[in-house]
Amino acid sequence: MQRELHAHLRKGREKLCDHRHQQVRARHHRRRHAQRAARRRLQLVAQDAPGERELFEELGVAFHVDVPLVDQLAALGLKPDDIRYLAFSHLHFDHVGNANRFPRATWILNRQELAWAPALFSAYAQAKTVMIDGDHDVFGDGSVRILKAPGHTPGSSALLVKLPHRGAVILSGDLYLTLEGRQEHQVPTVNADRADTLASMQRIEKMARNLVARVIVQPDPHEFERLPKPPAYLDQSYPSSKVVIP
Ligand SMILES: [Zn+2]
Repeated sequence: MQRELHAHLRKGREKLCDHRHQQVRARHHRRRHAQRAARRRLQLVAQDAPGERELFEELGVAFHVDVPLVDQLAALGLKPDDIRYLAFSHLHFDHVGNANRFPRATWILNRQELAWAPALFSAYAQAKTVMIDGDHDVFGDGSVRILKAPGHTPGSSALLVKLPHRGAVILSGDLYLTLEGRQEHQVPTVNADRADTLASMQRIEKMARNLVARVIVQPDPHEFERLPKPPAYLDQSYPSSKVVIP
Protein backbone atom coordinates (compact mmCIF):
# COMPACT_ATOMS: atom_id res chain seq x y z
CA MET A 1 0.00 0.00 0.00
CA GLN A 2 2.84 2.33 1.09
CA ARG A 3 4.75 1.49 -2.11
CA GLU A 4 1.69 2.18 -4.28
CA LEU A 5 1.18 5.49 -2.55
CA HIS A 6 4.83 6.47 -3.17
CA ALA A 7 4.58 5.45 -6.81
CA HIS A 8 1.40 7.48 -7.14
CA LEU A 9 3.00 10.53 -5.53
CA ARG A 10 6.11 10.19 -7.72
CA LYS A 11 3.94 10.06 -10.86
CA GLY A 12 2.08 13.13 -9.66
CA ARG A 13 5.35 15.01 -9.09
CA GLU A 14 6.65 13.96 -12.52
CA LYS A 15 3.44 15.14 -14.13
CA LEU A 16 3.73 18.47 -12.32
CA CYS A 17 7.38 18.74 -13.36
CA ASP A 18 6.47 17.99 -16.97
CA HIS A 19 3.75 20.58 -16.87
CA ARG A 20 6.13 23.18 -15.46
CA HIS A 21 8.75 22.35 -18.10
CA GLN A 22 6.14 22.75 -20.80
CA GLN A 23 5.14 26.12 -19.37
CA VAL A 24 8.76 27.29 -19.27
CA ARG A 25 9.34 25.99 -22.81
CA ALA A 26 6.21 27.76 -24.03
CA ARG A 27 7.35 30.99 -22.36
CA HIS A 28 10.80 30.72 -23.97
CA HIS A 29 9.19 29.97 -27.29
CA ARG A 30 6.91 33.02 -27.04
CA ARG A 31 9.86 35.24 -26.06
CA ARG A 32 12.03 33.92 -28.90
CA HIS A 33 9.16 34.43 -31.32
CA ALA A 34 8.66 38.03 -30.14
CA GLN A 35 12.42 38.70 -30.40
CA ARG A 36 12.52 37.24 -33.91
CA ALA A 37 9.52 39.35 -34.93
CA ALA A 38 11.15 42.48 -33.49
CA ARG A 39 14.42 41.70 -35.27
CA ARG A 40 12.61 41.08 -38.53
CA ARG A 41 10.83 44.41 -38.22
CA LEU A 42 14.12 46.19 -37.51
CA GLN A 43 15.63 44.48 -40.55
CA LEU A 44 12.72 45.74 -42.62
CA VAL A 45 13.36 49.20 -41.24
CA ALA A 46 17.02 48.91 -42.14
CA GLN A 47 16.15 47.80 -45.64
CA ASP A 48 13.46 49.71 -47.39
CA ALA A 49 10.14 49.68 -45.57
CA PRO A 50 8.22 52.93 -45.54
CA GLY A 51 6.77 54.22 -42.26
CA GLU A 52 10.00 53.45 -40.39
CA ARG A 53 9.33 55.86 -37.57
CA GLU A 54 5.95 54.22 -36.89
CA LEU A 55 7.56 50.79 -36.76
CA PHE A 56 10.10 51.95 -34.20
CA GLU A 57 7.40 53.59 -32.14
CA GLU A 58 5.42 50.33 -32.15
CA LEU A 59 8.53 48.68 -30.74
CA GLY A 60 8.54 51.22 -27.93
CA VAL A 61 11.36 53.44 -29.27
CA ALA A 62 10.45 57.11 -28.95
CA PHE A 63 12.04 60.03 -30.80
CA HIS A 64 12.46 63.49 -29.42
CA VAL A 65 14.51 66.55 -30.40
CA ASP A 66 15.07 69.21 -27.74
CA VAL A 67 16.32 71.93 -30.11
CA PRO A 68 15.37 71.57 -33.80
CA LEU A 69 18.17 71.88 -36.34
CA VAL A 70 16.95 75.21 -37.71
CA ASP A 71 17.11 76.69 -34.20
CA GLN A 72 20.60 75.28 -33.71
CA LEU A 73 21.67 76.98 -36.93
CA ALA A 74 20.00 80.22 -35.78
CA ALA A 75 22.12 80.09 -32.61
CA LEU A 76 25.14 80.24 -34.96
CA GLY A 77 23.61 83.15 -36.90
CA LEU A 78 22.82 80.94 -39.91
CA LYS A 79 19.72 80.16 -41.95
CA PRO A 80 19.26 76.90 -43.92
CA ASP A 81 19.87 78.90 -47.15
CA ASP A 82 23.34 79.83 -45.89
CA ILE A 83 24.45 76.18 -46.00
CA ARG A 84 26.44 75.52 -49.17
CA TYR A 85 26.98 71.76 -48.99
CA LEU A 86 24.75 69.03 -47.62
CA ALA A 87 25.84 65.42 -47.13
CA PHE A 88 24.61 62.53 -45.00
CA SER A 89 26.37 59.73 -43.15
CA HIS A 90 23.55 57.53 -44.46
CA LEU A 91 19.88 57.83 -45.31
CA HIS A 92 18.08 56.25 -42.36
CA PHE A 93 15.03 58.32 -41.45
CA ASP A 94 16.57 59.64 -38.22
CA HIS A 95 19.40 61.23 -40.24
CA VAL A 96 17.41 62.97 -42.97
CA GLY A 97 14.51 64.61 -41.10
CA ASN A 98 15.60 68.14 -42.06
CA ALA A 99 16.93 67.36 -45.53
CA ASN A 100 14.19 69.18 -47.43
CA ARG A 101 15.06 72.43 -45.65
CA PHE A 102 18.20 72.79 -47.78
CA PRO A 103 17.06 73.15 -51.41
CA ARG A 104 19.76 75.81 -52.08
CA ALA A 105 22.67 73.69 -50.91
CA THR A 106 24.73 71.44 -53.16
CA TRP A 107 23.69 67.92 -52.18
CA ILE A 108 26.50 65.36 -52.06
CA LEU A 109 24.81 61.99 -52.40
CA ASN A 110 26.19 58.48 -52.44
CA ARG A 111 24.71 56.81 -55.50
CA GLN A 112 24.37 53.35 -53.93
CA GLU A 113 22.83 54.75 -50.77
CA LEU A 114 20.31 56.81 -52.69
CA ALA A 115 19.29 53.80 -54.80
CA TRP A 116 18.73 51.76 -51.63
CA ALA A 117 17.05 54.31 -49.36
CA PRO A 118 13.31 54.89 -48.95
CA ALA A 119 12.14 58.16 -50.54
CA LEU A 120 12.01 60.35 -47.45
CA PHE A 121 13.09 63.63 -49.07
CA SER A 122 12.84 65.18 -52.50
CA ALA A 123 14.46 68.63 -52.50
CA TYR A 124 17.63 67.34 -54.23
CA ALA A 125 15.62 66.95 -57.43
CA GLN A 126 15.69 70.77 -57.82
CA ALA A 127 19.07 71.29 -56.16
CA LYS A 128 22.63 71.13 -57.43
CA THR A 129 23.94 67.61 -56.78
CA VAL A 130 27.29 65.84 -56.70
CA MET A 131 26.86 62.07 -57.00
CA ILE A 132 29.66 60.04 -55.42
CA ASP A 133 30.50 56.34 -55.23
CA GLY A 134 33.05 56.34 -52.44
CA ASP A 135 35.50 58.83 -50.90
CA HIS A 136 35.08 62.48 -51.74
CA ASP A 137 37.29 65.49 -50.95
CA VAL A 138 34.63 68.20 -50.51
CA PHE A 139 36.83 71.29 -50.96
CA GLY A 140 39.72 69.63 -52.80
CA ASP A 141 42.19 70.53 -50.03
CA GLY A 142 41.78 67.52 -47.71
CA SER A 143 40.12 69.61 -44.98
CA VAL A 144 36.74 67.82 -45.23
CA ARG A 145 36.66 64.32 -46.66
CA ILE A 146 33.74 61.93 -46.95
CA LEU A 147 34.99 58.38 -46.32
CA LYS A 148 33.33 55.32 -47.76
CA ALA A 149 32.28 53.08 -44.83
CA PRO A 150 29.50 50.72 -45.95
CA GLY A 151 27.85 48.09 -43.76
CA HIS A 152 25.32 49.85 -41.57
CA THR A 153 23.64 50.69 -44.87
CA PRO A 154 24.98 49.94 -48.37
CA GLY A 155 26.32 53.48 -48.92
CA SER A 156 27.20 54.61 -45.39
CA SER A 157 29.98 57.17 -44.97
CA ALA A 158 32.10 58.66 -42.22
CA LEU A 159 33.44 62.22 -42.28
CA LEU A 160 37.04 63.26 -41.74
CA VAL A 161 37.48 66.89 -40.78
CA LYS A 162 40.84 68.58 -40.22
CA LEU A 163 40.32 71.30 -37.63
CA PRO A 164 42.86 74.10 -37.15
CA HIS A 165 43.28 73.54 -33.39
CA ARG A 166 42.03 70.04 -32.64
CA GLY A 167 43.51 68.36 -35.68
CA ALA A 168 41.87 65.40 -37.41
CA VAL A 169 38.41 64.35 -36.25
CA ILE A 170 36.35 61.49 -37.69
CA LEU A 171 32.58 61.63 -37.31
CA SER A 172 31.71 57.96 -37.57
CA GLY A 173 27.99 58.26 -38.36
CA ASP A 174 26.29 55.00 -37.35
CA LEU A 175 29.38 52.84 -37.89
CA TYR A 176 29.33 52.37 -34.10
CA LEU A 177 26.26 52.81 -31.97
CA THR A 178 28.07 52.87 -28.62
CA LEU A 179 31.60 53.47 -27.29
CA GLU A 180 31.62 49.87 -26.06
CA GLY A 181 30.54 48.74 -29.53
CA ARG A 182 33.60 50.50 -30.91
CA GLN A 183 35.97 48.77 -28.52
CA GLU A 184 34.47 45.37 -29.22
CA HIS A 185 33.69 45.89 -32.91
CA GLN A 186 30.04 44.97 -32.35
CA VAL A 187 27.94 44.77 -35.50
CA PRO A 188 24.32 45.82 -34.84
CA THR A 189 21.84 43.18 -36.04
CA VAL A 190 20.00 45.82 -38.08
CA ASN A 191 23.05 46.40 -40.29
CA ALA A 192 22.75 45.73 -44.01
CA ASP A 193 26.03 43.77 -44.25
CA ARG A 194 28.16 42.32 -41.45
CA ALA A 195 31.35 41.73 -43.47
CA ASP A 196 31.22 45.24 -44.96
CA THR A 197 30.70 46.70 -41.48
CA LEU A 198 33.76 44.91 -40.06
CA ALA A 199 35.87 45.99 -43.06
CA SER A 200 34.70 49.60 -42.61
CA MET A 201 35.54 49.48 -38.89
CA GLN A 202 39.04 48.28 -39.76
CA ARG A 203 39.48 50.97 -42.36
CA ILE A 204 38.30 53.81 -40.15
CA GLU A 205 40.40 52.66 -37.18
CA LYS A 206 43.48 52.39 -39.40
CA MET A 207 42.92 55.91 -40.72
CA ALA A 208 42.33 57.18 -37.19
CA ARG A 209 45.64 55.66 -36.06
CA ASN A 210 47.56 57.02 -39.06
CA LEU A 211 46.12 60.50 -38.74
CA VAL A 212 46.02 60.48 -34.92
CA ALA A 213 42.36 61.39 -35.40
CA ARG A 214 39.75 61.56 -32.70
CA VAL A 215 36.84 59.26 -33.58
CA ILE A 216 33.47 60.52 -32.44
CA VAL A 217 30.67 58.01 -31.82
CA GLN A 218 27.69 60.38 -31.98
CA PRO A 219 24.90 57.86 -31.15
CA ASP A 220 26.45 57.01 -27.75
CA PRO A 221 24.67 59.09 -25.07
CA HIS A 222 27.88 59.59 -23.02
CA GLU A 223 29.79 60.73 -26.10
CA PHE A 224 26.92 63.02 -27.07
CA GLU A 225 26.87 64.48 -23.56
CA ARG A 226 30.56 65.38 -23.90
CA LEU A 227 30.18 67.05 -27.29
CA PRO A 228 29.86 70.84 -27.33
CA LYS A 229 26.36 72.07 -28.23
CA PRO A 230 25.72 75.01 -30.57
CA PRO A 231 26.76 77.78 -30.51
CA ALA A 232 29.84 76.05 -29.01
CA TYR A 233 31.75 73.94 -31.54
CA LEU A 234 34.19 71.08 -31.74
CA ASP A 235 37.35 73.04 -32.50
CA GLN A 236 36.74 75.22 -29.47
CA SER A 237 36.55 72.68 -26.67
CA TYR A 238 36.21 68.94 -26.44
CA PRO A 239 37.25 66.77 -23.49
CA SER A 240 39.49 63.90 -24.48
CA SER A 241 37.85 60.55 -25.17
CA LYS A 242 38.59 57.73 -22.75
CA VAL A 243 38.11 55.04 -25.37
CA VAL A 244 41.09 52.70 -25.71
CA ILE A 245 41.46 51.19 -29.14
CA PRO A 246 42.49 47.53 -29.01
ZN1 LIG B 1 21.31 54.34 -39.08
